[in-house]
Amino acid sequence: MPMQMDTAIQYLPGVGPKRAALLGSELGIATVGDLLHVYPFRYIDRSSLQYIADLVPDQAYVQIRATVRKTRLYAKNGTELPADHVKYNMASRLSVIVGDATGELEVVFFKGIKWMHAKLKPDTTWIFFGKPSVFGSRINMVHPEVDPPEGEAGGSLTGIYPSTEKLKNGGITGKVMLKMVSTALNEVLPSLQDTLPDYVLKDKGLVPLTFALRQMHFPTTQDNLAKATYRMKFEELFLLQLSLLKQKYVRSRAANGIPMPGVGEAFNKCYHSLPYDLTGAQKRVIKEIREDLKSGSQMNRLLQGDVGSGKTMVAVLSALIAYGNGYQTCIMAPTEVLAQQHFANVQKYLAPTGVQVALLTGTTGVAARRKIHAGLLDGSIGILIGTHALIEDTVNFKALGLAVIDEQHRFGVEQRARLWSKGADGRPPHVLVMTATPIPRTLAMTLYGDLEVSIIDEMPPGRKPVQTICVGENKRHAMHNFIRDEVDKGRQAFIVYPMIFENEKMDYKNLELGYEEIVKAFPLPKYKVAIVHGKQTPQEKEFNMSAFAAGRANILVSTTVIEVGVDVPNASVMVIESAERFGLSQLHQLRGRVGRGAERSFCILMRGAKVSKDSQKRLDLMCATENGFEIAEEDMKLRGPGDLEGTQQSGLPIELNIASLAKDGLILSDARAYATKVLDADPTLSFPVNAPLAAELRRDKYTVKDYSGIS
Ligand code: ADP
Ligand code: MG
Repeated sequence: MPMQMDTAIQYLPGVGPKRAALLGSELGIATVGDLLHVYPFRYIDRSSLQYIADLVPDQAYVQIRATVRKTRLYAKNGTELPADHVKYNMASRLSVIVGDATGELEVVFFKGIKWMHAKLKPDTTWIFFGKPSVFGSRINMVHPEVDPPEGEAGGSLTGIYPSTEKLKNGGITGKVMLKMVSTALNEVLPSLQDTLPDYVLKDKGLVPLTFALRQMHFPTTQDNLAKATYRMKFEELFLLQLSLLKQKYVRSRAANGIPMPGVGEAFNKCYHSLPYDLTGAQKRVIKEIREDLKSGSQMNRLLQGDVGSGKTMVAVLSALIAYGNGYQTCIMAPTEVLAQQHFANVQKYLAPTGVQVALLTGTTGVAARRKIHAGLLDGSIGILIGTHALIEDTVNFKALGLAVIDEQHRFGVEQRARLWSKGADGRPPHVLVMTATPIPRTLAMTLYGDLEVSIIDEMPPGRKPVQTICVGENKRHAMHNFIRDEVDKGRQAFIVYPMIFENEKMDYKNLELGYEEIVKAFPLPKYKVAIVHGKQTPQEKEFNMSAFAAGRANILVSTTVIEVGVDVPNASVMVIESAERFGLSQLHQLRGRVGRGAERSFCILMRGAKVSKDSQKRLDLMCATENGFEIAEEDMKLRGPGDLEGTQQSGLPIELNIASLAKDGLILSDARAYATKVLDADPTLSFPVNAPLAAELRRDKYTVKDYSGIS
């Protein structure tokens, strides 16, 4: 019987139990199919080898075939170490002179010195793949990939597979991988069914799976490799979108949503008494929500909008739609200060409507709490604003219809279930999650593929741009003077310090020293400086934060605890210390804390002495733009989607094998549009022609976690 994709890898000729175990532990390969889905991460193209004499600095990646002439080890202080009794832990640089027929080049390593030193023996020949750069007056190559010149006799492109020392020691070299893959292809391809139906291949102009797999491993031309890569990426993203959208279809067809057919009088009253016109984006989003609420299905909508884009108003108007249909709303904020702020604002907006709002937090007294509980049960309270306290079991509603969750609370399953169970008539409330962390569209589609996403991409008029500059330590004194000018004009300033778990001790020290310095520069009684950090009790934090929010303190020194939403319109300066240590979206969030009032605002990025190229790019971008989505896209390109802040906890719903969210946004949009089309025709994928798709979605990889609730 021929082998199948799901045959255990150990039965592949030439593998056996020992190698199978290694392949499993090192590369996660359990089946023949797994092996065929480990693609080379690079291909050596013999025709593209360059000569050393032709290299110029700052070229893109190049490949040279060169022989090791001499290796030298250097200590940190620059002295050369003897190579015969090497103390590797003293060596901080390995310099390798390599040469080909046209010249010589220095190759340099700062890491993995021991391993490279043992590998790059004089007179051995290797393929070096890297970026030429200039050092002094010479060209060198730092940390190139080093591959044996094996496989040269094969096709014109030879795949290089991911490898580890264990694999190599276990005899699974690049050559062996190529042999195994070749065997697997010959075994499996003759009887392999395509994972995509013919009509999909035709519609999207994709090459068949058998062709694609062979080309991924043994490409005959660059063009064929590109076609194969495209097909595999499209397939991956298409199946992912298909699985997410299918869940959404199932939910939207289940008529379990609380019906809210009208808008009602309160909505209209509030709308017509607004002190300003809604922005086009706010209007559009409210319309989207309105459509959801009357659809008969449960709404699950993520509202993204930059800091200050006016999300609160959207929440209020949505709550009034619920109210107009006889339902209550709860609005949940992540902190007490924020809940208070919402409460004050919402009360103001609701004054003309007569709708009653209540505030419930951890510090609400017993008597007040009892009154709120009663008001919620008899329906006299229309909107409840609060912190986590409002999902406690003792809080029950007469008819909860909408839950608004500000700043993307992360709920556990249990908490989510509690919120669900509070819905009217045993139905889950509609859910609106609001976040100011701009998630690039491509990532949102993947992370929240089964949620609707609304975006407010327009700022209310009158918001002044925040002037951002990046300066070094030599400008610290000037920075103090600048703050003093602003404070003397009656404004307030934030000074934020990085706080990273691994470096906590040092970070607290810096924060403390920074605080002392500021207190000295801004002495009592004329100035007042508040401080907020993670080691304080919640009460201390609240106390200091509210002192600043209420204008009793001129300066707030803090760690990033202020990241989430406080509104202090009078603050006009944001100083970020060691700015290079923050991620882009974090910097953007912090900067969004200023520029909310009538005054011109400033963001000062204090740069440390040593800043990497990538960090400098981030700082430059901050100075160049205030557009959160632009920043988020760049962030993803610089860091890769897995590292995006706010997404680490949630992780991606699936692991992508070949497609990249940062680079393949266009394929993703196309795949999503096409998946929608396929599901429109066959929502349950039960047509015989779609059988291959249905079968693929049953695989582990595509049984994605349910993100329909609030993650
Ligand atoms: P965020 O999206 O960060 O939650 P807010 O809802 O707090 O933003 O709004 C920021 C500020 O902008 C508030 O002071 C609010 O009153 C004001 N605002 C909201 N919408 C508009 C608008 N359409 N025109 C003018 N100001 C607005
Ligand atoms: Mg807000």
